[in-house]
Amino acid sequence: MDVNALTPMMKQYFSIKNQYKDYILFYRLGDFYEMFFEDAVTASKVLEITLTGRNCGLEEKAPLCGIPYHSAEGYIGKLIKNGYKVAICEQIEDPKAAKGIVKRDVIRVITPGTVIDSSMLEEKNNNFLLSIYDDASGNVALSYSDITTGKLKGTEFTSKDFLGKILDEINKINPTEILISKDGLHNKNMSTKLLEMDYLLTEYERENYNYSNCKELVLNFFKVFSIDSIGLNPDSPLVNSTGALINYIKETQKVDLIHFDKLEIYNHSNFMILDTFTRRNLELTETIRGKDKKGSLMWILDKSSTSMGSRMLKSWIEEPLLDVEKIEDRLLAVESLVSNTQKRDEIKNYLSSIYDLERLSSKLVFGNVNCRDLVALKNSIGMLPYIRDSLSDISIGIFSYIREKFDSLDDVYKLIDESIIDDPPITIKDGGMIKTTYSKDVAELRDALENGKKWILDVENRERDATGIKSLKIGFNKVFGYYIDVTRANSSLVPDSYIRKQTLANSERYITPELKELEEKVLGAEDKIKAIEYEIFNNIKEKILMEVNRIKNMGKLIAMVDVITAFSEVAFKNSYCKPEVNASSSISILEGRHPVVEKLVKTEMFVANDTILDNDDNRMYIITGPNMAGKSTYLRQVALITLMAQIGSFVPAKEALVGVVDRIFTRVGASDDLSQGQSTFMVEMSELANILHNASSKSLIILDEIGRGTSTYDGLSIAWSVVEFLSKNSGIRSKSMFATHYHELTEIEGKIDGVKNYSILAKEVGDDIVFLRKIVKGRANQSFGIQVAKLAGVPHLVTERANQILKKLEENDINSNIKNLKNEPQISFFNEVDIFSSDEKEVIDIIKGVDIGNTTPVDALNILYNLKKKID
Ligand code: ADP
Repeated sequence: MDVNALTPMMKQYFSIKNQYKDYILFYRLGDFYEMFFEDAVTASKVLEITLTGRNCGLEEKAPLCGIPYHSAEGYIGKLIKNGYKVAICEQIEDPKAAKGIVKRDVIRVITPGTVIDSSMLEEKNNNFLLSIYDDASGNVALSYSDITTGKLKGTEFTSKDFLGKILDEINKINPTEILISKDGLHNKNMSTKLLEMDYLLTEYERENYNYSNCKELVLNFFKVFSIDSIGLNPDSPLVNSTGALINYIKETQKVDLIHFDKLEIYNHSNFMILDTFTRRNLELTETIRGKDKKGSLMWILDKSSTSMGSRMLKSWIEEPLLDVEKIEDRLLAVESLVSNTQKRDEIKNYLSSIYDLERLSSKLVFGNVNCRDLVALKNSIGMLPYIRDSLSDISIGIFSYIREKFDSLDDVYKLIDESIIDDPPITIKDGGMIKTTYSKDVAELRDALENGKKWILDVENRERDATGIKSLKIGFNKVFGYYIDVTRANSSLVPDSYIRKQTLANSERYITPELKELEEKVLGAEDKIKAIEYEIFNNIKEKILMEVNRIKNMGKLIAMVDVITAFSEVAFKNSYCKPEVNASSSISILEGRHPVVEKLVKTEMFVANDTILDNDDNRMYIITGPNMAGKSTYLRQVALITLMAQIGSFVPAKEALVGVVDRIFTRVGASDDLSQGQSTFMVEMSELANILHNASSKSLIILDEIGRGTSTYDGLSIAWSVVEFLSKNSGIRSKSMFATHYHELTEIEGKIDGVKNYSILAKEVGDDIVFLRKIVKGRANQSFGIQVAKLAGVPHLVTERANQILKKLEENDINSNIKNLKNEPQISFFNEVDIFSSDEKEVIDIIKGVDIGNTTPVDALNILYNLKKKID
């Protein structure tokens, strides 16, 4: 392209675009944001807007598309949702004052991980931007931030940690955008895995990870002199990942990020580990099939009244605790509210009037609050004393911490209350926001605006009386402003203090100092008041900004109160019990229920079941029972009760004791798994490998139909040896539950101590099956597959026939048939089994015995007639 030929405006465009090559550049032209060239082509497709052209000095017109600036948010949101990044280039000088081309510059950059507009955010979810870095020795650091709440967290892995563990942590964080060096990571395997996962990767120049730059950035950002003072090891890769993260946020946001927390460095081993599959399989935050909240654990527990509470609850669910004391702190607080319905309702009522203080804090920092936000802030703060009062007699568990840290932000309330009117307009430049009582200037100007006309009339009347000139009038024109008009006939009555300004044919016009003073007040009042109110507003905003971290911290405490209140409401309404959580290795549940399924079963009562698991006599449950009996539900209920206890929630059971579990693994056999792409059996086996590598005696392992994705013998052998590996004395000795169709596995009971057979009761009533849903000791003696098929609506003819075949199969030994099948693969399975009824067999014998050569056609007809009679 011949750059010299470009118009001056396009030259400016390119000088800016070259700095933002990876972004769609929104170039402000009058009331529009315009996009040019490739940006225009992309944006017109994504946004479904018309692509046109504009002269740019080159022979061909520049492709162009544009959007009105006032509706930009929606369009930006759409581009971001589609994985694009947007740079907003504004006019940065008044076009009227500009000589030549108006100066422009990028004032904001928006990427999926750095969105701040509430219209583009999901209220109840965090929007995390994650930065990853690994050093040459294989240590890996993850730093991440939700810039809308100022959350900043980091965690580290050593070279000994499995790649799967790191990927699990990333999946748990579920970032919207991942920042990674342009050259990738040292660990190429991890780079590849990240690419395969469905995250938006933003490649960042290598130098942004340079240690000394990063260290400098981190020190400046946290205003400290040494890296250790923020709890970081100086040679930790977290310095690099955090430095790059901060740099990126600064580059995109271009404001002073004062609302950020200190870096919270956490040890991922402080939380129960839930790998991606387990989180999905237990349907913690969404269902597997529809990805809906309804049907998930979150759906049951999320009775929070604020979005801050919902976000906190989600992070609690994703990070169950291991520390018994911390768990107990939450449980005690929940307990204090469970049976106190009145107090709970009262707190909920106050909470529901509280605005999203965390996101409001970030709005303050990013400078886009209006007066309504401030009034919302005031009203929210107004609820705090009530909440404090409600909690005043509870000083137990986490509530004592909340009470200690509680800050009712009285000064902020007072400031807003004194200054901002209760129902202000949305715009901040048109006045009408500041209370008259707050500013003398505003009071006078408002008085002038409202009373100006009356004041002039007062002067007119007074002067009329004083001079005795009945026809004296006050008029107005643009040249002289207000003047006193006196007819020539009355000129002699005009006092000396009048200053003559103009002589007309029939009258003279005068001014007085008083009139001019009034005029100044009245005429400029409107513009002045707008300017003054805007200034006062900014002033107040600045003052509140100084307190932003206090506001944010209160946001956190309120979120805690909210989650605890929600837990107690759920516990009360669903008759949950307070679990006893300790460091033992037992899980013992009396009358446990599945928190979600118990809500969804419509036609029957949910049947509660007991569980006893430990590292000794009850290490492994082998659960058999018909399809649909409730095996999967039972397994998941044990996992969910354990998890709920460790997040500090009451649990659906009559009694429960939970010895803290370090990980929950769940694996579902291939045929139930919805994974695509790789062979499902392969997926199942690699997940199994993960368990066998990572499980400890503190883990809870749930296996549902593992091994089904391959041939019977292979599957059975794998299942068998897995049971051995997990439960033998020399093995992992973890707590495991295995639901299986391989009845052969029940043989293990008695061979390995700690392995126990259980089955779920079902009963035959006539030809039908009734599920009793009760788990009992011992193996299932029937599988009821055909009855289940019947229930599922398989045609009668087929189930009848299946019954016949089953009877025959049972008469023969199925295992010997399978063996025969192995030895003589060319023989069809059913040939080996006598599947014909005795009548049918007789028919066959008769046919076999017919001597065709000596049979007349009439005999043949007779034989056929008899045969038919036999089988009709
Ligand atoms: P399986 O794994 O044995 O095939 P599921 O656990 O999938 O069976 O359960 C099938 C259905 O039975 C569930 O969707 C639920 O409706 C019902 N169900 C399971 N357990 C119970 C129970 N304890 N009480 C009542 N209904 C249950």
